[in-house]
This record gives sequence, C-alpha cells and structure tokens, in this order.
Amino acid sequence: MPNIFRNLPSVNQLLENPRLKEMVDSVNHRVVVDGVRTFLDDLRDQVTAATEDVSIPTPQELADKIADWLETEEQPALKPVINATGVILHTGLGRAPLASSAANAVSAIASGYASVEVDLRDGQRGQRIRAVERLLCELTGAEAAAVVNNNAAATMLTLSAIAKGKEVIVSRGQLIEIGGSYRLPDVMECSGAKLKEVGTTNKTHPADYSYAINEETGALLRVHPSNFEVVGFTKSVSTRELADIAASHDLPVIDDIGSGALIDFSKYGLTDEPVASESIRDGADIALFSGDKLIGGPQCGIIVGKKKYIDKILSDPLMRAMRVGKMTLAALSATLQLYRNIDEAEQSVPILQMLSTPVENLKLRAEKIAVQLGSNPALKDVSVVEDQSMLGGGSLPTQRIATWCVSFASAEGSINSLAAAMRSLKAPVFGRVNKDRMLLDMRTVRPSEDLALVDGMQSIGKKPAD
Ligand SMILES: *Cc1c(COP(=O)(O)O)cnc(C)c1O
Repeated sequence: MPNIFRNLPSVNQLLENPRLKEMVDSVNHRVVVDGVRTFLDDLRDQVTAATEDVSIPTPQELADKIADWLETEEQPALKPVINATGVILHTGLGRAPLASSAANAVSAIASGYASVEVDLRDGQRGQRIRAVERLLCELTGAEAAAVVNNNAAATMLTLSAIAKGKEVIVSRGQLIEIGGSYRLPDVMECSGAKLKEVGTTNKTHPADYSYAINEETGALLRVHPSNFEVVGFTKSVSTRELADIAASHDLPVIDDIGSGALIDFSKYGLTDEPVASESIRDGADIALFSGDKLIGGPQCGIIVGKKKYIDKILSDPLMRAMRVGKMTLAALSATLQLYRNIDEAEQSVPILQMLSTPVENLKLRAEKIAVQLGSNPALKDVSVVEDQSMLGGGSLPTQRIATWCVSFASAEGSINSLAAAMRSLKAPVFGRVNKDRMLLDMRTVRPSEDLALVDGMQSIGKKPAD
C-alpha cells in the first residue's frame, strides 16, 4: 500500500501547475505551499485509513483539486487583525474590541444552551432581556430597557412603536448622516413616522418646537450630532428644555445620544460625549445608543427609558425582527458588569485601556519596536514620531488623543504595496499611511500584540523559506 505514495507528485512539481503558480503570485507563496502540504498530508491519511483500494488522482487532477480548495480557503473571512491605525472605534475593523470577561462569557454559552428565555428561579418563560435589563437600569437610572441589533435599529423600532403615522419633530441642525447607509430622514421614513423639521441648521429655539406641536405630533426627537460640529452663531435646545415642552403636551422625548457613554469621557480629553444617565436625569423618556461605541461592548442598540414606552417597544412586531441573540446578550451583560466599578472598567474594557494609557508608555513601546524594525532592509528610515489618535466610529474628527507611532518608509516599492504586504501577513497589520510613510500607532495596538506585530513586520521583504 505505501508504494502508492510514490506516484504522488512533490510539492515543487505541483507548484509548476499554472493555477497554483498564479496563486503563489496573487495570494502568498507560503500560504500556497502550506496548502499543498496540508492537502497532500490529508490525502496520505485518507489513503492509509481507507479499507478498500483507492486511486490516486493524476498530478493535473491533484493540482486542480488543491487550487479549488485553496480558493475557497482564501475567501475573505473574519480574521483577527492588528489595528495600528490609531482609530480606536474603527468601523472597518469591527469597532470596539470586547473585554476578556465579555469574550469568555460568549465562549461559555456559544456552543451550548443558555437560559435565554427561561427564568432560572421558577423555570417559567421570561423575557430574554431580563439579564441585562437590570444592569442597564442600574447604570442609567432608567425604569426599563430593551436591546436590539444596533442603534439604527433602536431608532427605527422606537419611532415605529411610539410614533408610527404621527409627526416627529426634529431640529434641522440634527438631521444627520452617519456613514452612507444611516441618514436620519431615511430611517424615519422607514419607521412610518413623519419627519417634521424645525429651526435652522445653526439655530433652533424652544419656541420652534412648541410652535410645531399639534394633534399630529407623536414625539420630540433629539439627535446628538456625533460627527460634525456647527461653530459660530449657534443654539440648540437641551434635553431638559425639550422635556419641559414635551411634558406640557404629554408627549415623549426620544434622545439619540449616539456613542452611549456610561461614564464621563472628558477625563480622556473627549468633550461633548453625552452620558446615558444624564439624558435620563434631564428628562428624556427614551434614550438610544450603540453598544459597541464608547461602552466597548458587542454590536447592539440599547433603548432605555420609561416603562410604559419600553413595554410598547417590546411588544412591537419589529422587536422580533431586531432582537439580539444569546451571544450578544452574554457579551453585553459581562461588559456592563464591569461598569459597576469604574476602576475595574478602566482596567478591563479595551477602549478604556487604550484611552487611559499614558503617552509615555506608548513612546517606550514605539521606541522598542522601532529598534527591532530598524534591522529590516525592506523598511527605510525607521523612527518614532509623536502624533494623534482618533476616536472614530462616527465621532467628531476633532476628537483626537496624543500618541506615539513607529514611522517608516518602504525601501522598495510604493507605500501602498507595503500596506498590502502588511495586510496579507498571517496576523494582518493595518497602519496609517501619511504621504509616503507608514505609521504604526501604538495606542490601538494592545501590548500583548507587540510581539506578533514585530514578527509580522520582520517577515516583510524576506523570501519565505520552503
Ligand atoms: C453611530 C450613531 C448611530 C448609528 O448607530 P449604529 O449602532 O452604528 O447603528 C445613530 N445615531 C447616532 C447619533 C450615532 O452616533
């Protein structure tokens, strides 16, 4: 039987096949060689384990099979990457990374059953939200809570449940677009509520809202203009002022606060980020925010507020279409637990760790990495530079935090081809391109990733051994 293996072509013979040869160029030499080896090993195992005679494919068939297999293997899939862009909430890289306790909570329930809809005390059917509702109420001061897929869903669901067929009054200064696919007027239209604009781009007064209220009015909506700033001659109406106007007409105030800070971020140098508990305290009947922006939890949309409105939202048919699964609930619940103690949150929630790391630490790590990368002939003029990280995630572009970066140019080829080589590493590295230089911003690289970052960068320009 083992003699049959003699007919197997060698790795190098297989690599002469045009399809595999093309893949070496388009994908990566090592990936293809590894793939060919793995495939041959598996084939040997299968043949050895087979009880009946099996025929070995011809070299041509074999090469084709391997090429097909590699093609499917190389389909874009989710893969961990090193974020050296300095954008803390990088939408393209999945926004907030989870705390390890949240990741562990997901892994603990992912492959088994979980008490999603049963109350463990009496075995009766309960609301899946119950586990996190208590925590959300505790941390925001709200009476009740609901969790859906993202803040866009939270907005659409809330408007539909509270104000379908009615007018919702919004300041012209708050008709935002966040990323191409989220435009408030479109979300409003989808929900079945009717947009009623008041005020002007730069100034909206309390009287503008009062004047617009009539029998058709269903709610007053306030939206945090997360990603732009109107400066100069401006006026907007505060949540408190809006709540006063709404109360005298028995209407709800819906407050889309966007990033959903649970703590005050001004200590990290980030100004104007509304805090969820302040929105509720100031009289919002419903506050809406994302779970994967400043909370640093899983992607979700959080709705907190008065019980009578949350009950309406929970019983809306759209709720079923927008609800989250057990993994999101587990991750959110574990993340919220950390906020019961601010020190613990700062130590464990990755985005808070990144924001609170002293700039001197980043400088030391950048210097250490620069020394190591200095020996790679593929990189030119390796140095460290002071620069600024960005919050990202649809936040103000002016929200910047001091940082240190490793900076270098490409010794051969363009900076874009260097960026491409970095993206095709086993642990892909995303940096920040600034003119003809690449910056690796240490603020968004976890210290535990430094080694993989250096290993990866050092393999650039080297011929892979085979
Ligand atoms: C980010 C943002 C949204 C959209 O939230 P997603 O969770 O991305 O759906 C909506 N409103 C505001 C004010 C935001 O900042």
